[in-house]
Amino acid sequence: MRALARRAAAGRRDRTLGAMSARSIPGSSGTVRPVRLWGDPVLREPAAEVTVFDAGLARLVEDMFATMYAADGVGLAAPQIGTALRVFVYDCPDDEELRHLGHVVNPRLVEAGGVTVTGSEGCLSLPGIDAATPRFDETVVEGVDVHGHPVRVAGTGFFARCLQHECVHLDGGLFTDRLTGLRKRRALRAARRAPWSQVR
Ligand SMILES: [Zn+2]
Repeated sequence: MRALARRAAAGRRDRTLGAMSARSIPGSSGTVRPVRLWGDPVLREPAAEVTVFDAGLARLVEDMFATMYAADGVGLAAPQIGTALRVFVYDCPDDEELRHLGHVVNPRLVEAGGVTVTGSEGCLSLPGIDAATPRFDETVVEGVDVHGHPVRVAGTGFFARCLQHECVHLDGGLFTDRLTGLRKRRALRAARRAPWSQVR
């Protein structure tokens, strides 16, 4: 998911970096890979469960962080770099500007609730396209990390939006699927007319 401009500029509290050594900064050993764009069939494939927890998986996560940071994203799913596996990464603020940083392998959206909030949302696979998109305000995702250890990630506000957005990617969905009516027509027309679009 793409960062909101006002959020990218805002100061963030940070509970993650202080505890990490320079060596463990996510993405620092990764390769920036091309982001697959709307119209690419890999974005519409349901991604496969990860069954092998090896160096290749760790490299994939590193490449995903490097690619997400290079593209000014707050979340990225593996199919967006052409790998149809159930993995996503995030470095995303919530509505209190608290930063959340991590990755989830084989994520399951185990809770999605609270009020439905319609807020601005964009995707690295549809550059320049934003639309007011309805999402639940509270989300819990469970899965494992690159070593196969269980993780549970709870989010509210903008971070809950991000977690839902990335889970949907792994089922071949896009945020534009959540839109209806005029809002949907406008977003898809803008995407078709975008300079990067392969879809006419
Ligand atoms: Zn996206």
